[in-house]
Amino acid sequence: MHFQRYHPDIRMIGKHFKLRSFANMEITRHYTVCNVMEPGYYTAINDALKQDDYGIVIKHLDEGVKKSDTAMFTIKNYGISRGLSFRFFSDQSHDFEVSGPFGKGLIQEQSGTHIAFAAGTGVLCFVDLVAHFALKNLRATDRSTGSLNAGKGIKARKAVENEFKLILYVSFPDRAGSIALDFFENMQAHCKEHGYFNFELKVRLSSEGKQRRWDYDFVKQIVVNTKNLQKMLVCGPPVVTETFEKAFHELEKERLISRFQVDVL
Ligand SMILES: Cc1cc2nc3c(=O)[nH]c(=O)nc-3n(C[C@H](O)[C@H](O)[C@H](O)COP(=O)(O)OP(=O)(O)OC[C@H]3O[C@@H](n4cnc5c(N)ncnc54)[C@H](O)[C@@H]3O)c2cc1C
Repeated sequence: MHFQRYHPDIRMIGKHFKLRSFANMEITRHYTVCNVMEPGYYTAINDALKQDDYGIVIKHLDEGVKKSDTAMFTIKNYGISRGLSFRFFSDQSHDFEVSGPFGKGLIQEQSGTHIAFAAGTGVLCFVDLVAHFALKNLRATDRSTGSLNAGKGIKARKAVENEFKLILYVSFPDRAGSIALDFFENMQAHCKEHGYFNFELKVRLSSEGKQRRWDYDFVKQIVVNTKNLQKMLVCGPPVVTETFEKAFHELEKERLISRFQVDVL
């Protein structure tokens, strides 16, 4: 069996695979394509952002596109014996059927402002989207396209300025229980340093005192104040998705958004 370890196509962002254990074929669970969570790629993209060196990540990606006999997923252990995820963490070996990819992907229109709300493992749906922006921004600041090749550098910078924009809201219980937060923060720092406006991060850590709740008023305020709002995407546990579904329903009734502008994953 040959798997692709790295899926470069933007249409793959947000797609998922279905997995079943041969020990219990009645249970199927979904796991998201997360290129950037592969440890080598994760380290490379973070180093590239911190050192402002596009070459670090390109060297890694050249290796990553090779076909492999393993598929990589990022899985939280729920430890439920009737479930699936615990099998990846058990001492015994398990065989799995992998099928996919499924889903329509996150990005249909590469224009306007996209707002993503993610809680817990829900951020895994968006990590590759942030990586897409990171690669674009790193390319634009690449030192090898500097004075020697100024035309190419200007072209890359223009591509960033014309890029659609992502505002990412993340919610975690605390920093220790967060996922990919250091990557999002490195990306935010890189954007600030270079004056790029195509990515914004808003963090909510429940442990840090009184935090604004994600509710109807919160969503409405964002909708009213966002220019050129293309899409709002939500991924998180049921309590989060239910809140957004209700808020979106109200906002649709008030004709502030259309149902084509929202995607609750
Ligand atoms: C599109 C998509 C993509 C996903 N991507 C990822 C990913 O990349 N990584 C990842 O780790 N997970 C991902 N998930 C979640 C994943 O598919 C599984 O749901 C997760 O691994 C838990 O499965 P499990 O069988 O181990 O546990 P489950 O048996 O499904 O239990 C998980 C939790 O749900 C609770 N629960 C179970 N049944 C009920 C019920 N009837 N009512 C209320 N609560 C219940 C359990 O108490 C437990 O807390 C994704 C889900 C979707 C839909």
